[in-house]
Amino acid sequence: MNVSAHRAFSLLKDLAFERVSCSEAENRAAQRLLAEAQSAGVQAVIEPFTVPCGRVRHAKLVVTEPYRKEYEVTGYERALSTPEGGVDLPFYYAENGLPAHLGNVKGKAVLINGHLGRKAYKHLQKNGAAAILTFSGSTIDRRSETDCDIRKLREMLTDDFGKNIALNMRAEDAAEMVRRGAKALHIELTAEDYDGESRNVCAVIEGTEKPEEIISFGAHYDSVYFSTGVYDNMAGSVIIMELLRYFAVHKPARTMKFNWYGSEEQGLLGSKAWVKAHADELDKHVLMINVDVAAATLGQNAAPVLGTDAATAYVDGLMREMGTACDVKSDIYSSDCIPFADQGIPAVNLYRSGTAGANYIHDRRDNLKSGYIDERALDITLQQALFLARRVDGAKVFPIERKISDDIRKKVDEYLFKTDKKQEGEKQ
Ligand SMILES: [Zn+2]
Repeated sequence: MNVSAHRAFSLLKDLAFERVSCSEAENRAAQRLLAEAQSAGVQAVIEPFTVPCGRVRHAKLVVTEPYRKEYEVTGYERALSTPEGGVDLPFYYAENGLPAHLGNVKGKAVLINGHLGRKAYKHLQKNGAAAILTFSGSTIDRRSETDCDIRKLREMLTDDFGKNIALNMRAEDAAEMVRRGAKALHIELTAEDYDGESRNVCAVIEGTEKPEEIISFGAHYDSVYFSTGVYDNMAGSVIIMELLRYFAVHKPARTMKFNWYGSEEQGLLGSKAWVKAHADELDKHVLMINVDVAAATLGQNAAPVLGTDAATAYVDGLMREMGTACDVKSDIYSSDCIPFADQGIPAVNLYRSGTAGANYIHDRRDNLKSGYIDERALDITLQQALFLARRVDGAKVFPIERKISDDIRKKVDEYLFKTDKKQEGEKQ
């Protein structure tokens, strides 16, 4: 029994549909991954968790002065609704929210550049913005080939700074509004919150010699809206399924856990829920191996290691021994490895990303028809993951120290906004 990139890619093709957090499709994908793991003779279960979700019934934006035009918008999920009949507000473009702009946002519908991060949201809320507008895509997008992105006011924004009315629009339209000197807007938004259910698919193969040491494999299987998420990240999901098949036959010395995480795209919610639910066993975890993004035909391999410099050197040595190209470095990676590192568990994230012009992520182009991923390229990361897994599992003494360097710890804290929250707490 050996791993098969062909079999992995076939499974990827079967699951190449949009799988947004808490959707029926995400559930369908979970059930299929569960059935695949069980069919390999491995004990597997679904572990559900609750996600704060939002539904948008209606969203509308009309420029009313000095010209009149309605623009296509999407409402942020979990945003505040406008009063019945909407609101009329002055419009203000605050660019990237520097102090020179923030003094002018009070009581206005404020457009900012691109992404609504925690810092920008905090400043807009504290300075009294009446509504927030963002844009996505690029100014040269063709409407027929792109979508107006659907976004969510995540808890990391709303928990600390409250809610607001928030809309997203296309970059081209945002540029037109600014260019034509829009002064006043009419905005309507009807949104409601609800608790959604997402799922992790969890499988276990008991170790034959050192069952008390646990190596876990992770990959998220959800996608964002409009994306079939084949590259990000059904590719990683099917790679760890092949590892499961391999170790179901070639029993590991250490206990191996295989987790397919839901709702990663909403802020690593699946892995955060998993770490919380399994708190009492985390001291047994010696390594987490995550695969997020793979199979790009034109691309490059990398492996950020969240651990010590010695762990990084060890993984780099293995890749050299294997003769495979892989840029191994000490760094964090925005994926399910983060909650593990946060708990002091070293993690390696293997990935193969597409090079510029051959990587499409988080929109409708992450699709099999885009033709930038293939089975041979998927095999590269599959082989690297298998080699790493076999070597660490086969080691007499576990070769990676259960430790996170100060540098990685700092980056993880920043990523999880712990640093910001600490400073905010000190100021109060
Ligand atoms: Zn991903």
